[in-house]
Amino acid sequence: MGKVYLIGAGPGDPDLLTVKAARLLERATIVLHDSLVSREVLQQIAPRAEVVDVGKRCGQKLLTQDEINALLVAYAASHETVIRLKGGDPLIFGRAGEEIEALREAGVEFEIVPGITAALGAAAVAGISLTDRRAASQIVIATFSRGTDASAPALQLDWGAVASVATLVLYMPGAHYSEVADRLRDAGLPEDLPCVIVSNATSAQQQIRWTRLAELSGENRLPAPALLIVGRVAAHRVQEISADYWRGQEQELIASRKSVS
Ligand code: SAH
Repeated sequence: MGKVYLIGAGPGDPDLLTVKAARLLERATIVLHDSLVSREVLQQIAPRAEVVDVGKRCGQKLLTQDEINALLVAYAASHETVIRLKGGDPLIFGRAGEEIEALREAGVEFEIVPGITAALGAAAVAGISLTDRRAASQIVIATFSRGTDASAPALQLDWGAVASVATLVLYMPGAHYSEVADRLRDAGLPEDLPCVIVSNATSAQQQIRWTRLAELSGENRLPAPALLIVGRVAAHRVQEISADYWRGQEQELIASRKSVS
């Protein structure tokens, strides 16, 4: 029985791979990867390795999660080392939980090699400190889900938890900027709250759009993969990060919450 490595490929730039990930890719014989993994990272894989794209593209699933789990177990029976390569970090919206469960059930040894998750890659290229003692003491990493997916109840975001002292990083916003804006308003967040859309962070196609809650609905969709960073920490001017600037907003917010309850 071989060993399976669940490896984070980072947000795109191959220089952001960990040294451990790069070493494992260099001596790989079999790699199963998602379509989110960048071409530049795929080029780091040993040329003799068998490379399988198990990702989904344009909504068309190449393999189901159960099939991927079964493949990992099957390859572990015939290879000493099996690499499962995922965009960003495997443990953030990477379905690693299901793969870990399958490997444990089959008695297959595994190791997780962390990667830089998109939130951190995007914050880095935009120059945003996700926590800031003047503005945010919490980070909410969430994904935007509209419907009620019975098989994934945990995808529903508790918008009430998005407080004025938290930074929200919203993965997979799709084209739903306007709905996101509505939910943020419902949660009582102010119109001039900074919102930043980061597309293809750390890659050559990277785009950063600086906006505010008031204008978010009207923004054109940036190409996937993209995410949203929402919070005072994303203010361009330092005075906007400071508590003074927001005190008025917060007083209003508290008053409006009191009048609702
Ligand atoms: N495991 C990954 C996330 C997978 S979910 C990680 O840790 O980053 C896929 C979502 O991640 C995309 O819809 C997008 O919201 C985000 N994402 C991944 N790579 C990105 C990048 N380079 N720039 C911006 N967002 C990215």
